[in-house]
Amino acid sequence: MRHEASARLFEAAKTVIPGGVNSPVRAFSSVGIEPVFYDRAKGSRVWDVDGNEYIDFVASWGPMILGHAPDAVLDAVREQLERGTSFGAPTEIEVRMAEAVARTVPSIEEVRMVSSGTEATMSAIRLARGYTGRDAFIKFEGNYHGHSDALLVAAGSGLATLGIPSTPGVTEGAARDTIVLPYNDLDAVADVLEQRGEEVAAIIVEPVAGNMGVVLPRDGFLQGLRALCDTYGVVLIFDEVITGFRVALGGAQERFGVTPDLTTLGKIIGGGFPVGAFGGKREIMERLAPVGPVYQAGTLSGNPIAMVAGLALIEELSKPGVYDELERKGARLEAGLRSAVETAGIEAHLTRVGAMACMFFTAETVVDWTTAATADTGRYASYFRAMFDRGIMLAPSQFEATFVGMAHTDEDIDAMTSAAAEALSA
Ligand SMILES: *Cc1c(COP(=O)(O)O)cnc(C)c1O
Repeated sequence: MRHEASARLFEAAKTVIPGGVNSPVRAFSSVGIEPVFYDRAKGSRVWDVDGNEYIDFVASWGPMILGHAPDAVLDAVREQLERGTSFGAPTEIEVRMAEAVARTVPSIEEVRMVSSGTEATMSAIRLARGYTGRDAFIKFEGNYHGHSDALLVAAGSGLATLGIPSTPGVTEGAARDTIVLPYNDLDAVADVLEQRGEEVAAIIVEPVAGNMGVVLPRDGFLQGLRALCDTYGVVLIFDEVITGFRVALGGAQERFGVTPDLTTLGKIIGGGFPVGAFGGKREIMERLAPVGPVYQAGTLSGNPIAMVAGLALIEELSKPGVYDELERKGARLEAGLRSAVETAGIEAHLTRVGAMACMFFTAETVVDWTTAATADTGRYASYFRAMFDRGIMLAPSQFEATFVGMAHTDEDIDAMTSAAAEALSA
């Protein structure tokens, strides 16, 4: 494959965009090659500016669960374009969107739209603090909740990929009330709450971790968090920016049967446009301005183009059989990868929930950041490059998920796993 056009664009980009990219992991630096610049995408495929075709398992980091440029979304967007692209005033489509979210996500009675996952989690933390009158909150090591200051501590993939433990620019003050604990460690949470329960406003957690690779919650972990939050009057926030509409229509809370107080959404909910959302119990949500005193706002929040796209996507996902099909595709991918690993005789730990999966290059069972970090990132980099050369696009980081979507055919999945068998055996 030739990558001259991408290389030229990257050179130009680096002179006017820091590192040539608008989000760090896109730079491909941890896999030892330069990024390719995309030209277009459709279904399960993406094409770069040199005309190379790839079967895509990144899915824009999650949103493209129906595949790229699905007709239902394109039609909805085309129609809305003619009516106007932003009003800064309420529209019917926002009501329909909120109703769809409240209908599908168990914890959500009321929801507020924002423009990114980062805004959703930042706002949910502020709301939990305003609601409880407490300052501190608990997050888990290796969980990523966007890049707002208080949440950017021990924050998984982007930082981990670049080997950055924490970041300059976040003051001690901003991070002081952030308590970081190991994922899946309920005893650690119980200890902190026993000592400081009165100070803790919220626990925020990825119910399936997707930013340190894919790490499943241990049996009882989410239920245990729920019980502890009830005991200490702490707001339980599920950050379902990845898992929402992915591991089930109603997200991980539906799949695992644990209902948080607040939920944050992003990625899929925007249908490929910039959208985030946070919602939950009416009693908490009604602390938000203009009904309550906790301020939160956005010029483009509930943007009509993004809303029609997201709503069209949710309607497609609500059709019968979609999640069974995603499960089947995910299982096919997992089985293929397991057999590739076996054939190659290498040590790897595979994880999967529905249509999100990860292969850690480690002999350890991955349950938290400490075990995830044992993965051999150099080995991942050579695996990534071998797959890339075979026209398979994976996330350029060990600590990201592989996403399967409705547009992947069995042939696409088999092409991926046979490429993996070659790549791993090489
Ligand atoms: C991607 C992500 C975010 C941040 O969303 P952005 O839209 O990138 O700001 C927050 N939480 C989780 C779990 C995510 O995966």
